[in-house]
This record gives sequence, C-alpha cells and structure tokens, in this order.
Amino acid sequence: MSSVSSRPSQDMVRPEKDTFLGEENPFEAMMSRFDYAAKRLNLDAGLYKVLRHPEKQIIVSVPVQRDGGDVDVFTGYRVLYNTSRGPAKGGIRFDLNVTLDEVKALAAWMTWKCAVVNIPFGGSKGGVICDPSAMSTGELERLTRCYTSAIIDTLGPDSDVPAPDVNTNERVMAWIMDTYSMHKRHTVTAVVTGKPVEMGGSMGRREATGRGCMIVTKEALKRLGMPIKGARVAVQGFGNVGSITARLLTEAGAIVVAVSDKSGGVYNAKGLDIANVEAWVRENRFLAGYPKGEGITNDQLLTCDCDVLVPAALENVITSKNAADIQAKIICEGANGPTTAGADAILEQKGIFVIPDILANAGGVTVSYFEWVQDRGGYFWDEETVNNRLERIMRRSFDEVAGMADRHAVNMRVASYMLSIDRVAAVHRLRGLYA
Ligand code: NAD
Repeated sequence: MSSVSSRPSQDMVRPEKDTFLGEENPFEAMMSRFDYAAKRLNLDAGLYKVLRHPEKQIIVSVPVQRDGGDVDVFTGYRVLYNTSRGPAKGGIRFDLNVTLDEVKALAAWMTWKCAVVNIPFGGSKGGVICDPSAMSTGELERLTRCYTSAIIDTLGPDSDVPAPDVNTNERVMAWIMDTYSMHKRHTVTAVVTGKPVEMGGSMGRREATGRGCMIVTKEALKRLGMPIKGARVAVQGFGNVGSITARLLTEAGAIVVAVSDKSGGVYNAKGLDIANVEAWVRENRFLAGYPKGEGITNDQLLTCDCDVLVPAALENVITSKNAADIQAKIICEGANGPTTAGADAILEQKGIFVIPDILANAGGVTVSYFEWVQDRGGYFWDEETVNNRLERIMRRSFDEVAGMADRHAVNMRVASYMLSIDRVAAVHRLRGLYA
C-alpha cells in the first residue's frame, strides 16, 4: 500500500512504509541510522536522495518442477543497492519470510559494510520466497539454477557477486557458479564467493565472520582497558558465527559463560568447555539437554551477568524492552541487525560499548573479497595469509570507526555509518552524475 506525502524520495524508497513502521523492521532500522549519520555528515541534498534509493530491483518468477511432476512458481528478488565503489556484493537467502523491503535493507547494509572495511565492492542482496526444508535436494537445485538464469544478466565478477546467506550454503554456490559458467561457455569461479575450497573457495572463509568478531572484541576490550584474560562472554546463537566466535575468544583467554541456540541456552559461571559444547551439538544437533551447566532461556542469556555479549543468531533481539536490563559492557553484533534503533539510545545511556554489525561481522565479506581476488588472480593463499590479512583489515577498520567516533563525539554505530556513507558519497562526487 503506497502513500503519497510531501517527502517523495522517502516514499519511493519505501513504498510500503505504512506496513513497516514497527521497531522491528530491518529497513526502518537501517534508514533511521542512515538518516542520522547523513545529517551529522551534512550530506548534500542530492546525494542524500541518491543514497536513499536502490540502484536496481529485480523481481523474477521461478518455475520449478517438483519431484512428483507438479510445477510450482516461486518469487525471487535481487536488489543492487549501490555499485559506485565496485561490483555489487551480497548473499542470497531462501526463506518464507523474504520480502522485497527486507532484501532492499540487506542490500543497503552490504553497501555500508563493504565501505566500512574499505573493500572495493558495492552492496546487493537476493532472496527467493520458499521453504527449503520442505524441498528435496533435486528441487532445491532446480530452484537455484532457474533463479540464477532469471537474474543472470546482473550477475558477473565485474557486476554482481552473490554469496551464501540464510538457508543457502557452499552447495548452492556451486550450482550458481555452474549455471553461470554454462551460460558463459567457460568456467567463471569469481561469480560467487563462499564456494567449496575444491572449486575456488578461500581457505578461512568458513571461520572468517567469527574470527572478525573475535578480533574486534579484543580491540574493544583494549579500548576500555579490560583484559581479555578472564573476560566473561555470553554468545547467542551457536551456528557458524556464534560457535566460532566462542571458540576463538576462549582460545584468546576469555571465559564463555553462556551460549544458546534456538533450542535454549546453557550457563556456567566457571566457564563452558566450548570444544565439549561443539561435540554435543555435532552429536545432538541442538544445545538442549547439555549437561555441564544450568539451562537458561534466550532472553535470560541476553541479560545475564557478563562482560561481553555476542548476539550471533537473529535480528531484533535487543529492543527497547530489554535493553535496560543488559549487563554486558560490550556488545559485539555478530548477527545482522540484532539491535533495534529504539534500543540504541538506551544502550548508549547505559554506557555500553556497541561494536555495530556492519563492522563486527564484516570479516565474512572481507574473506569473500579475498576469495574473489584469488579467483581472478588464479593464485591461492594459505590459511595463515588469509587470517593475517583479515586481522589487519579488521583492526584498521575498528581504529577508523573509533577515530570517527572520537572526532565527532558519537557512538560506534553512528561512526560506522558516517564513515561508510562518507566513503560512498566521496566516490559519487568524484564520478559525478552520468547524464
Ligand atoms: P547459522 O544458521 O549457522 O546459525 C544460527 C544460530 O542461531 C543457530 O545456532 C540457531 O540455532 C540459532 N537460532 C536460530 N533461531 C534462534 C532463536 N530464535 N533464538 C536463539 N537462537 C536461534 O547462521 P550464521 O551463519 O551463524 O548466522 C548468524 C547471524 O550472523 C545471521 O544474522 C547472519 O545474517 C549473520 N552473519 C553471518 C555471516 C556468515 O558468514 N555466516 C556473515 C555476516 C553476518
């Protein structure tokens, strides 16, 4: 339902804004932070309008023959938010909750994230409305190939490079790479990242996001004068990002006192043996029933007694309702959008140091960038090289965001948006408007 107002640019960006005014809408969360940072930067009116609009929005119908012979048609999206700094970069998710507005918000987030870590990419995102858990492997492959063919004109190592996101993985990236390569009549590894290492994936990509979280958490502790040794950490989500962040922080000397997944959480004031928790999850799929600690809910985990809280599962878990109860001194946002805009002010008032998502979880896209570079160069790096280069970029980015925060007396989230918007705007000014 679109509405007409005196602010046409705003309405064009969010045509269904009447249905998305809630605290928990990711597009609202992104736009409210964007607006504030743009104001602090004194962004000129023309650029403000340009950066509030996605460059391209593609909607496709994806027919898939089911195993039983019937045909179903799914809706797929690909949004290129901004490509001024380089090819668009952004994941593809297969989920029943995918909407065009969500894909737009995520594509914008990717634009800011790539600019924060200063890698030469723009931002994009894609999604198909489907329930992959109700599809066979064959159906999923046909869906992936048909969606890829439908958006193939936008894809390419120089134009738009997908990666895995919710419910897509290395297997799906391999199908996308094959479909694209068949169309081009030669193998093009650099068209996607997050591929299996055997076919052009990068060493260290799987651990990259958690490793990045560990690096910036260490930087934040240093900034606050808190030792990593003995720092008490609580991690929500024990998947790729959460489990690796927990493991690496433990290896660095921290004590992980709580972890959780969708089945619930576990707390142990003396510290959890993360290798042992990982083994339990490998065997039992979920944390529920893990015996070496006390059972807690996900809500209790967020407000438990700890120094560092790592939300690494879902968006919108820290809201205006629970922000006041959070005890951590540092929040490292492993997930995308775990904190609502409404919670920001409360966390700031409490003096909690938030490492914002577009910085904290940028390790993943940074190593995706390394993968793209390696594919294009045809020369592959060992894991130590990948990890060292990742560490250098994450530490530099942390310092640059912290420097911006100090200079403008703003928090790290506002500073990260200011830094990235400024970088994207600078390129727009240099390139000018193509008439
Ligand atoms: P994952 O699927 O590997 O793990 C997700 C974890 O969250 C699982 O342990 C799951 O049980 C848990 N979870 C799901 N629903 C929950 C709920 N209601 N309450 C508590 N826990 C719940 O996913 P991931 O790759 O680790 O991604 C986690 C977050 O990090 C997402 O927001 C994702 O967008 C973001 N992220 C991931 C990467 C990456 O490289 N994987 C990069 C950047 C950002």
